[in-house]
Formats: sequence, structure tokens, C-alpha cells
Amino acid sequence: MNTQASLSDLIRQTVEAVRQEEEQGIESLYLPAGLDGALPLPERTRSARSGRPAQPAGAGRPAGYAQPAGAGRPAGARRADQANQPNQPVQSVQSAQSAQSAQVTSLEALYAKYHRCTACALGFTRKHFVFGTGNEHADVMFVGEAPGAQEDEQGQPFVGQAGKLLTRILNAIDFTRDEVYITNILKCRPPNNRDPMPEEVDACDAILKEQIRLVRPRLICALGRVAAQALLKENSSIRALRGRFHDYHGIKLLVTYHPSGLLRNAAYKRPTWEDVQMLRKEYDRIVQSDVQATPGAEVS
Ligand code: SF4
Repeated sequence: MNTQASLSDLIRQTVEAVRQEEEQGIESLYLPAGLDGALPLPERTRSARSGRPAQPAGAGRPAGYAQPAGAGRPAGARRADQANQPNQPVQSVQSAQSAQSAQVTSLEALYAKYHRCTACALGFTRKHFVFGTGNEHADVMFVGEAPGAQEDEQGQPFVGQAGKLLTRILNAIDFTRDEVYITNILKCRPPNNRDPMPEEVDACDAILKEQIRLVRPRLICALGRVAAQALLKENSSIRALRGRFHDYHGIKLLVTYHPSGLLRNAAYKRPTWEDVQMLRKEYDRIVQSDVQATPGAEVS
């Protein structure tokens, strides 16, 4: 790459970064010493769960994707795996979009179908296909943006600093990671954590739609602007989208800030706390109405 091209790239990336910060209302950067105090952590008080099974840790995660191929092996070996399996059949955009015509019936089968996907260019640079984790019958699904470096390394979503904060947020509203389902809009890491390109979001959309069809969540929480805009097909700012429920093909969808945004800016803590409390309240309301609709069930 010549010097002029590098400079142009740098300017373009800087302008994009400033635009995003402005859009999210960031006026100053906050660099926390740790995660302590990020959100209040009330005593866990178990409330009634819906009739859908809350599985123990690890349950509901087919072995095929609980431990992605190559995870735990030396980095060099993983790299060789990825080179995106040059001898394996390549999945095209067309095949990614034909998911609904050849419907799979389990998340394990969906993982098997797509874990070597190269429907967009990210399939050629990733270390791991990062599918999703949690309860395959979850009532609540969290959808983030895309894997970061640690997620790409480990093949699991939300395992870095932002992931630890997400775990604390879930605990704060009386959920564990194993009770919900967590995934991203994109299953492969964009280089240098840049924003997903529209064509990448489009190429990956069929996989997310299939995950939602199979998990059948009652509530979806979009984490951050990219996830919110991709799911709602809107260009509005996160500030305009958060704080109320939207309709996603008949499923209630709430938008809040991405945990990585909270790590950058303390001003996002309060609105995020309000959003996740709203999510929990709606979840409890759904559970209560399920109980009331069950013949012979005791209503407390
Ligand atoms: S980001 Fe999605 S569409 Fe692109 S290669 Fe990865 S799995 Fe396939």
C-alpha cells in the first residue's frame, strides 16, 4: 500500500470513528480502572421462570459448537484449520440465503451447516466462526455486533472485557448466561474491529434469522447501534431507538448500549440500567401471563 493510500485510509477511519462517537452522544472518554461499580449488583432473588426449560451450564450447547473445532489447540494449528479449510466446499452467499428453503431443525445442525461459511470476505480472515452460546430454548436473546479479538480467538461470543460486563449486567437483572442465548449480527470478526459492512450484515442475516427461528425467544435485546440498526432496518441513533420495545417479526425487541460502550463512557450506565430493568420487567410480565394462561396453575 502506498503512503497516500495509507493516509486516506487513516483519515477515513478517523472520520468514521468520530462520527460514531458523536452519534452515540459521547462527549468525553471514560477509561475505567476495572469493572467494579459498573452496575449495581443486587442480591439474587429468584422469581418464577417460564415453563420453558432453564438448562444447566453447558446443556443445550451441542458439542459441535460448544467447543469449536480447533479451540484449545495451539494457535498455529488453529490458523491452519482456518485458512478457511481450503479443501472444504465453499458456501456461497446464495447458499447462506437459502437457509430457509432447506430448514434445519436444531442449532447444532445450523452450526454444522455454516461453520465453514465464506459467504462474505470475513470468512477468509477469521480464526473462528463465532456462532452463539447459552440456552437453546432461551426466552431472552441478546444480539451484539460482531466477534472481537478474544472472541475470534476462543470461538465464543462476549468473552472479553465487554463480555464480562455483559455477565454482570445479566446477573444484575437475575439472569445467568446459561439462561439466555447470546450471539452477534456477524459470526466472523471484521479486521481491526471495524464496523460491519452492509454487505457483510446482509450475507450473515440468514444465519441470525435461523438462530432466532430455532431458539424462539420471547424477547430480544439488541446491544449497540450496529445490532439495533441491522435488526430493525433503521438508521436512527441508539439514543432514539432505546427505552421502548420495538417489533421484530412479532417478537418484542429492546435496544440498549453495547457493553463496550459502557466501558468507554460512564454516562451510558444509567440508561443501560433502565433498559435492562425494563427488559426484566417485561420478561416477568410474560412469565406471569403464561402462568395465568395455564389451566389449573396457581397464580401467586
Ligand atoms: S460473517 Fe457471516 S456471512 Fe460472512 S463468512 Fe462469516 S458466517 Fe459467513
